[in-house]
Amino acid sequence: MPGFVGHTVANTALLVGTTVVMRAQSWSWQDVMAVNAGIAIATFALSPDMDLFNSQSIKGWGWLRFLWLPYAKLAKHRDRLHVPILGTAVRWLYVLAILTLILILFRFWFRRIGLSIDFDFAGDTEDILYNALYLADVFLGAVLADTLHYLLDVITTKLKRLVPRRFRERYERYARAHYEREHRPAREAIGMSFKEQR
Ligand SMILES: [Zn+2]
Repeated sequence: MPGFVGHTVANTALLVGTTVVMRAQSWSWQDVMAVNAGIAIATFALSPDMDLFNSQSIKGWGWLRFLWLPYAKLAKHRDRLHVPILGTAVRWLYVLAILTLILILFRFWFRRIGLSIDFDFAGDTEDILYNALYLADVFLGAVLADTLHYLLDVITTKLKRLVPRRFRERYERYARAHYEREHRPAREAIGMSFKEQR
């Protein structure tokens, strides 16, 4: 509910917080950067609001946003996949699946035009483990950001419910009347509000 701007501001504060706390606990800068990269990814590319097709988070993907249409169709907004860890993991796997598909298509295409490229990742096991730890940092950052997103969603919804119904209704009536006054011919607006009051 806080909207894209609200979530971005909150996640920026989180990023500053993780940097301060991790440095104070003498984590390396590489680790701090990896966690912060996770926060940035979860804010701008893989936010929980990817389950809403007209959200700012999806618009950020530009013309590539069509890749998220199946995800947004399958996941109802603010349903199970809005929850951290589970949602985070599903969105990562979703991207991984798309990348794998693209890789397979390219491989197929390369073979057809007679190009052979090795996609084998033959590295030291130690190297792979070492890099996997950074990946764990990035995931940790994304989980932190998604947790904050979820908490803010829940808290703002709760706060909204705390406002007594009559105040909410009065405000909504006020907002609607204002909108009508601003956007419609005056006479029509008066007619509308009379009708609504009855
Ligand atoms: Zn949300």
